[in-house]
Amino acid sequence: MRLLLVEDHVPLADELISALGRQGYAVDWLADGRDAVYQGASEPYDLIVLDLGLPGLPGLEVLKQWRAGGLSTPVLVLTARGSWAERIEGLKVGADDYLTKPFHPEELQLRIQALLRRARGLANHPTLQAAGLHLDEGRQTVSRDGLAIQLTSAEFRLLRYFMLHPEQILSKSHLSEHLYDGESERDSNVIEVHVNHLRRKLGKTVIETRRGQGYLFGGQVA
Ligand code: CA
Repeated sequence: MRLLLVEDHVPLADELISALGRQGYAVDWLADGRDAVYQGASEPYDLIVLDLGLPGLPGLEVLKQWRAGGLSTPVLVLTARGSWAERIEGLKVGADDYLTKPFHPEELQLRIQALLRRARGLANHPTLQAAGLHLDEGRQTVSRDGLAIQLTSAEFRLLRYFMLHPEQILSKSHLSEHLYDGESERDSNVIEVHVNHLRRKLGKTVIETRRGQGYLFGGQVA
């Protein structure tokens, strides 16, 4: 999953970028509200974390412009402590959730997981479930019938994306746009390698290849 973080306080941004990276998210970071208006609407983010006090353009204005332009990406707003007016305004102009500073990184992680599942119409169980598999996003492990299967970090990222988009045809370029940040070099052959690793671990039928179109996860599972 690829996230946009809009936060002008550099130490906090640094901390969040590394925490989110460890949790398997690809993160693009911006500090200026005007840049955020453009980039949030032009890149295919799965979720946006938006600070409200920003240089360039206030976060509330950024969010208003995104929603006016039809952007439906889930947005989690970061607000200052005690600022209930900001929280209310944020929710009114289309925030999906908010978190008050200072917060524990784990709370942000859990809210992000919940928002991503909700956006996909999935129930918020302790584990992400699809095609008979249970993915523990905190531990980054997958299990089937209670049996744990180890994953590398790249396999975890790819499997999480598949499990949030079951029975959908996903092209290699779509997958690489959502699994790598804007700075990373995107090589869609790498996706193929990880798909093959997942098939070896989880069984061939879990991920089908649709020639010329892409991959389909969980389409024919017993
Ligand atoms: Ca700020």
